[in-house]
Amino acid sequence: MKITFIGTSSGKATLNRNHSSLLFSSEKYNLLVDAGDGISRALIANGINFDSINGILFTHLHPDHFSGLPALIVQMKMINRNKPLDVFVHDSLRNVVEEFLLKSYLLPERMGFEILYKTFRDNERTIISESFSFLARMNSHLSNLEKFKNKYPSLSLYSASFLFETEHKKVIYTSDIGSKEDLFLFNDVVPDILISEVTHLSRSIILNNIISLNPGKTYLTHYSDEDIPALGEILATLPAEKREYVKLAEDGLSLEI
Ligand SMILES: [Zn+2]
Repeated sequence: MKITFIGTSSGKATLNRNHSSLLFSSEKYNLLVDAGDGISRALIANGINFDSINGILFTHLHPDHFSGLPALIVQMKMINRNKPLDVFVHDSLRNVVEEFLLKSYLLPERMGFEILYKTFRDNERTIISESFSFLARMNSHLSNLEKFKNKYPSLSLYSASFLFETEHKKVIYTSDIGSKEDLFLFNDVVPDILISEVTHLSRSIILNNIISLNPGKTYLTHYSDEDIPALGEILATLPAEKREYVKLAEDGLSLEI
């Protein structure tokens, strides 16, 4: 299994880097995690064939994680894809995604391939393929929108962090989070790899807590270009023995796991 950082940027668009997205690839299955604005170009830039993607998992529906989906599906249609595409979404978001695709004129009758919605529930394991699964736990990234629930009752505020498990490795991906507590959603697991976002919490909070989580290796992602100098300084302040285990991820970085 290989993890490729398709993009590492925050919600801020930049010419040099793509919005945050990961690709888990193996001989059996290729899972894209998030498909925000510009995902089709980001995949081309990383040399990924659209047809090789078996499924797309959404962490939440902020546009930098989600809005590239219809455009990517159009690309798949244009290369005459015929194998189905799995779309993994939390069950409160399935209708939103399905409607969004229909309203983008992506009608099942005209697609040439099937979109298979695979909904998941909080804290329930989803098997993706033989010896590859994930567990989603809701985080507080969208809880600041709670106050709008009365006005927009159909709004789902589900946003998750994930534990991915392969036969031998455990990978935690925080995705976008909202509070320090979200870093401890998988407190019961010591991950081989922790992939943490660094935009929504102070970097010192993230780094201090990462050390206490004690992952095998940590990769920081979801940062803006202007954050790079400060992140470099903070990484340089880590104790020497930790420094080689915490890295700033870059677009195109690939990890064999
Ligand atoms: Zn977000």
